[in-house]
Amino acid sequence: MKASKMLISTLKEAPNEAKIDSHILLLRAGMIKNEVAGVYNYLPFGLRVLNKIENIIRKHMDNAGCIEILCSALQPKELWEESGRWMKYGPELMRFKDRHDREFCLGPTHEEVFTSMARDLIKSSKNLPMNLYQIQTKYRDELRPRFGLMRGREFIMKDAYSFDKDEQGLEVSYKNMYDTYSKIFTELGLHYQAVLADTGNIGGNGSHQFMALSDVGESEIVYCDNCNYAADVEKATIFVDIHDDEQLKELQLVQTINQKTIEEVSNYLKIDPKKTAKTLIYHDYANNKIVACVLRGDRELNEIKLVNALNSNENYLELATDEEISQIGTYHGFCGPIGISVEVYVDEEVTLMKNIVVGANKKDYHYINANYGRDFTGIVCDLKKARENDLCPICKKPLKQERGIEVGQIFKLQTKYSEPMKCVYVNEKGQNIPMVMGCYGIGVTRTLQSIVEQYHDEYGIKWPLNVAPYHAVIVPINYNDEAQQKLALKIYQYLLDNKIEVILDDRNAKPGFKFKDWELIGIPYMIICGKRSNEEIVEFKNRQTLLKDEINYKDACEKIISAVKNI
Ligand code: ATP
Ligand code: MG
Repeated sequence: MKASKMLISTLKEAPNEAKIDSHILLLRAGMIKNEVAGVYNYLPFGLRVLNKIENIIRKHMDNAGCIEILCSALQPKELWEESGRWMKYGPELMRFKDRHDREFCLGPTHEEVFTSMARDLIKSSKNLPMNLYQIQTKYRDELRPRFGLMRGREFIMKDAYSFDKDEQGLEVSYKNMYDTYSKIFTELGLHYQAVLADTGNIGGNGSHQFMALSDVGESEIVYCDNCNYAADVEKATIFVDIHDDEQLKELQLVQTINQKTIEEVSNYLKIDPKKTAKTLIYHDYANNKIVACVLRGDRELNEIKLVNALNSNENYLELATDEEISQIGTYHGFCGPIGISVEVYVDEEVTLMKNIVVGANKKDYHYINANYGRDFTGIVCDLKKARENDLCPICKKPLKQERGIEVGQIFKLQTKYSEPMKCVYVNEKGQNIPMVMGCYGIGVTRTLQSIVEQYHDEYGIKWPLNVAPYHAVIVPINYNDEAQQKLALKIYQYLLDNKIEVILDDRNAKPGFKFKDWELIGIPYMIICGKRSNEEIVEFKNRQTLLKDEINYKDACEKIISAVKNI
């Protein structure tokens, strides 16, 4: 392709909205263009990368025995009523009515559609197991669309759904997808970690997320170097190591005027925050109740664990307001588990602590020497967020913590959809048995941006060769110079003949301007035709290493051809 005929839309400065490097670079390199918040158009270079990523995903899915289809984004309300999600899904679901007042949504995911597809089309148990997938556009009215393609309101997902006869079958299908995802993210060059994940309202212990490791990731993971335990902090459990042998002391009410936070109270009473417990009051709208949660003072509450303990829903759980707190007879900043009028959920760690400080449910008062079992009880569960240096639940060694971008997630759905939607097969005894399902998603556009996040420098993007929009670019210093133009055209033809995706920069512009464009866009190899063109010597530059070589044009071409062959 000749640069003069291409749509190159590089920008000197990124628009203000872009906050993280990968978003800034995708905009500046002219890969994507913003329409409204969370909605992007893919420009020629971006689209080429997207197609390559999709094809790598497709290759591995096909190799794993999955079957590709393509479903509509438009989904009728009735399907979502069958699964019970029309009410439950919340404001992220983009709903609308057609001219006949019939209700629809734009699919944020396709469990209902694929379940109905399998129910209608898989006629015989001989066709099981089956795994159907698509690469398709999804819509989610995200509360805070941000970071470009990382969290869009429209994005591309590869979603797959497996249908098995039984649990053992699902185990095999799930493992197959776990392995396939590992191959996909490895081939895409991502530094990633597979972690145990929470299953949300789906339940069970069957989900993994694939996290591209990055400081800008919205997810936190903990992992153990010693035994390979790795989990999203939403899911992570820890080994609790408390052996407090203190004799129980007498419970005492102490005045703590205006000392509300754990920091204030522990400073004021000169007590280690680890000897205090905080009590958080939540309003669970799903179950229509107010609850108190007690955990060690220096801990953070993991809301997902609370959602699970309450059998509630993330979208329906909120910290109680000061007014709601007063209505249950206590005071913000002085809440505690002793004598409180609502259900109490106690983190297991608190049950092992002795003589601790807790709020007294009385303005400007705390109790000291409170003890679980003697002074208060409650429903014991795990509510705390794991963090660095907590102990691994498997081998008890200190855990490490990192941030990650969730690029994929796999779930064992079991019969959550097949049962209500009557997606069944007939067994040997003639009985209708619900198919056992799994679902498997990859955020394709989020993956694209994650690659940029991991592969860039101050000059621009450094695409790995297998997903780069083009393999190579030829830049004559001055295209009007006869020797340079002649050599450039010769190289261009030679590379095209060898199936290299190559650009010839025939633009009438300063060399520095041209170099900057290609470095920003991130083309892996650059061949510069300059002063020594009549000797057929070129400058050969590698975008990853930034190393430059003066070599014969043929050698430069051969290096590119052989690198592309080895992709
Ligand atoms: P998140 O927790 O980041 O909102 P999710 O767990 O809701 O994501 P899934 O339902 O598991 O997402 O969707 C499968 C994949 O689709 C995710 O792993 C992620 O890579 C991608 N994805 C989800 N939401 C978005 C979004 N708003 N924009 C871009 N990609 C997304
Ligand atoms: Mg997910």
